[in-house]
Amino acid sequence: MSDCIFCKIAAGEIPSTKRYEDEEIIAFNDLYPQAPVHFLVVPKKHIASAADITPENSAVVSKCFEVIAQLAKKENLSGGFRVITNSGADAGQTVDHLHFHILAGSNLGPKLC
Ligand code: IMP
Repeated sequence: MSDCIFCKIAAGEIPSTKRYEDEEIIAFNDLYPQAPVHFLVVPKKHIASAADITPENSAVVSKCFEVIAQLAKKENLSGGFRVITNSGADAGQTVDHLHFHILAGSNLGPKLC
């Protein structure tokens, strides 16, 4: 998608502070961190949100969670971490490209669920 900011980051057209990259997935720091550790794990292929995951594209979602586990070990998030994905307006999704927020580094406060 030509006007998608995360597609542009994945293509290297917009700079980011990368924590991981392979052919299918990129992870980079959130521009406006909500916790001491806050990065995003993003499939490079454009999937608009969790509502758009299908049998045809779900393999990369599974791989995102493998990358999350790998990064949690590498970044020593042994105290725990939270994984969030917002889907749609009611959830407050602001970038319409599937991404997983990883939050950690302090007590993250009350859970919503
Ligand atoms: P959402 O609101 O769940 O869709 O999350 C989008 C996230 O992307 C927000 O936490 C933003 O701070 C973050 N964000 C927006 N633009 C950029 C960027 O250019 N680099 C890194 N993070 C960004």
